[in-house]
Amino acid sequence: MREKPLVALIYPPWLEERTHTEDVACVPIGTYAVAAALLAAGCDARVLDWHALRGQPEAMREELRTLAPDVVGVTVLQANRFGAMDAARMARELDPEVRVVFGGVGATSLWAFFLEHCPELDAVVLGEGDLTTPELVRAWQAGADPAAVPGLALRGPDGPTTTAPRPPVADLDSLPIAARHFTYQHLALTRGCPGRCTFCGSPAFWGPRVRFRSPGHFVDEMELLAARGVTHLYVSDDTFTLDRERVRAVCREIMARGLEVEWQAISRVNAVDDQTLALMRQAGCIQISFGVESGDDAIRQALNKNVRREDAVRAFALCRKHGILARAYFIYGCPGESDATIRATLELIAELRPLVAHFFILSVFPGTELYERFKAATGAADSIWLDPVEDIKHFELDPDQDLDTVAAWGRALREGYRAMLPGFALAAADDLDPDPALARLHADFLARLGMTFERGDYARDPHLPNAQDIAARLYARALEFHPDATAALGLGLMLQRRRDYGASVRTLALGLTGNPGHEGLSLALAVALMNCGDFERAISFLTPFTGNPQAMEYLALCHRHLGHPGREAQALAHARALRQGRPAPGPGGAPPEPGG
Ligand code: SF4
Repeated sequence: MREKPLVALIYPPWLEERTHTEDVACVPIGTYAVAAALLAAGCDARVLDWHALRGQPEAMREELRTLAPDVVGVTVLQANRFGAMDAARMARELDPEVRVVFGGVGATSLWAFFLEHCPELDAVVLGEGDLTTPELVRAWQAGADPAAVPGLALRGPDGPTTTAPRPPVADLDSLPIAARHFTYQHLALTRGCPGRCTFCGSPAFWGPRVRFRSPGHFVDEMELLAARGVTHLYVSDDTFTLDRERVRAVCREIMARGLEVEWQAISRVNAVDDQTLALMRQAGCIQISFGVESGDDAIRQALNKNVRREDAVRAFALCRKHGILARAYFIYGCPGESDATIRATLELIAELRPLVAHFFILSVFPGTELYERFKAATGAADSIWLDPVEDIKHFELDPDQDLDTVAAWGRALREGYRAMLPGFALAAADDLDPDPALARLHADFLARLGMTFERGDYARDPHLPNAQDIAARLYARALEFHPDATAALGLGLMLQRRRDYGASVRTLALGLTGNPGHEGLSLALAVALMNCGDFERAISFLTPFTGNPQAMEYLALCHRHLGHPGREAQALAHARALRQGRPAPGPGGAPPEPGG
């Protein structure tokens, strides 16, 4: 092993392709945290995103061959366990001396399974890897017995066994900030969740106590990421707003530092309040995800989801007031599910009016209470995970439910929600806080929502045939609050597609009042003016953009219509030079002249 051991931390591919990849596409933050801890301990560490390379085993092999690490660490969730075992096999094939360690939620809950079924695996880090992983690597390097390192699972003489338990990291501020070395989008203020939902693996992984970073430490990470150009961030805490005073301090710190970031968070409906949400919105929060799970009280109780219906109604109303997009998660196929409970969920949705909702079949994952109950009831062993399935569907264990019924519930929920969604979106502006000081933020909220209908997920949804019309109305509502650039450009271009150039000119000109010199708005306005035959005015919006070949081509067109062949040729030559990356022609590369 090198004097400075090189550790490759791999995020392996998942079993199945997904429609919504936003929750799984990114390398988990824990991987970067461990990489930073390794660097701080004097090791060398690289993060390899093999999820992004899925379907390209040769590219993965080549990456590993070139790097030739001393240690390979693999982040194991649940659905990437085969990818993890493939990575271990590949690493050992390339270098029989390489050490292989697994970590993460999946590895922690199925450590014995992996040690039994993956012969290339040397050790499993249980729980948080920040302290355990560097100690393990150093033990291997020194030729010491890793059995002395707490927080591990190893192969013992009598089979898989664990070393002494390692207590969770008490002082999160003592950990290095990974953004000093790496670029990523996810970060967290806390570790752990006080909830005990039966379907969730978080409580078992993080331990019973929630730990917090200081606001300054957290915002330092945000600032470092922003400096690396990452201005859209995912705050991945299980319940970000658990300590609301701390969250308000975070928000004040973001604003005091003038960070131009937008971020989304996860919370519980009983952990938000008016004042905190107001500050979160001002500090750049654009979306919060809430697990509502079911409209039926008894089902939420059966899942041990300790939130009340009125909490959900209140939390969603507050998010609507502050222009934070509240995303709702629901689970169906739960114990006691019926047509009536599905109707109750749809009734709750009608009350919450979420602008995004996701519906999942209740699944049983290792590391959850449901899984322990399932094993106790059926006598099943962890070896069931040798089957290439991502999870076990709960309804398969319930004699009162079958696939057809559960699938019909899923359809009823999704179709019911989609039928309500246009109404929710079009009413979104009515619930916003009327305080004029918030008009700019509200316009931003409505413009983003408009984009979702114009170009995002809803634009591609065949069940929302009027998505473009909804987008146009949302953009128009946004502009009533503030001349937002996104809204003006979105609506201005839609009007051009409808050949309503006069209205397009008015919309884009309005946008420019709030965003003077905005390049996109100026060019779009010039095009609308050209279509109205007002070439002189169009020229005035094009000439500032001498570095934009498209603007210069439009300028040439204007000059052609105005009968200025010399200026037309000059603008065209300028555009051509820009497209070819050459200096623009003319004396000193001067831009084409404005005016008619
Ligand atoms: S589902 Fe959410 S609230 Fe429940 S235990 Fe998991 S992280 Fe906590």
